[in-house]
Amino acid sequence: MSAITGAAMVAGIIGRPVTHSLSPVLHNAWIEAAGLNAVYAPLAPTADGFQALVNGLRGGVIRGVNVTIPFKEEALAAADELSDRARLAGAANLLLFRADGTVFADNTDGLGMLGALAAQAPGFDPRSGPTVILGAGGAARGAAAALVLAGAPEIRIVNRTFDRAQALARDLGPAVRAVSVEAAPAGAGLIINATSLGLGGGPGPEIDLAAAPLSAVVLDMVYKPLRTEFLRRAADLGLATVDGLEMLIRQAVPSFEAFFDQAPPAGVDVRALALRAVGETP
Ligand code: NAP
Repeated sequence: MSAITGAAMVAGIIGRPVTHSLSPVLHNAWIEAAGLNAVYAPLAPTADGFQALVNGLRGGVIRGVNVTIPFKEEALAAADELSDRARLAGAANLLLFRADGTVFADNTDGLGMLGALAAQAPGFDPRSGPTVILGAGGAARGAAAALVLAGAPEIRIVNRTFDRAQALARDLGPAVRAVSVEAAPAGAGLIINATSLGLGGGPGPEIDLAAAPLSAVVLDMVYKPLRTEFLRRAADLGLATVDGLEMLIRQAVPSFEAFFDQAPPAGVDVRALALRAVGETP
């Protein structure tokens, strides 16, 4: 392990709970392989302690942080400057602390999703047809924003709480609309589970995947287990699948670059490390 001295660059992740986050596993493996004098630490403030923590970190105390549940909306509000995709998503998963005391917010979740699609469904073009997003929380917003910016022609939001789907559609513009689960799959090019259904091995969202074209790609943001019930259902129908772990790894890459001014080193099998960390065989 490379030495961590008093001059170490510090980054981290803020969440509550943060104990099970895989981000420290990914970033610290890259730090070590790159031989950086740096550390990536988990930070879990109290439920109302996010703002105070961020204010305390201003002025270059720390390079930056990733932000996870339940603070992604608060992260946006805490920033002085926003990227277009963070503004459009209404949520941030990355805060960068500048030496002048200001905070810049970005959202790399959507980039992670597009990167995972490119890796596991090569040739898929998000501009080629309608996308269905199941869910209307922070992850759904990040995905919808990235797809709008990537030129997706139509995004259909399905959510248990329909009002939230409508609010998301209103915020993201004319390409995005709230639909019923029955109306969603016809003609879809991409179907995304952005709900927490399936986490821990339970059933995924109820949608008739057989009503989607055989060319449809199905992506599950849930990665515990890796092969969720939703992805197994899709694969059984012969649909291409993309897993949430690939998305998680891909969203970490631009964060690492922003924290440490360099790309993660090649040759580190972070997927195998992450799989071991969630108790799966690589
Ligand atoms: P969130 O803001 O809490 O949103 C949760 C969503 O799930 C909402 O749309 C909610 O619907 C829906 N939902 C929850 N329980 C449900 C149920 N029993 N039946 C139907 N719908 C239900 O969470 P998030 O931040 O968007 O994250 C969503 C999931 O994506 C999580 O599992 C998270 O771990 C995962 N994620 C993965 C990545 C990755 O890189 N792979 C990145 C971000 C998030 P209501 O609006 O009706 O409550």
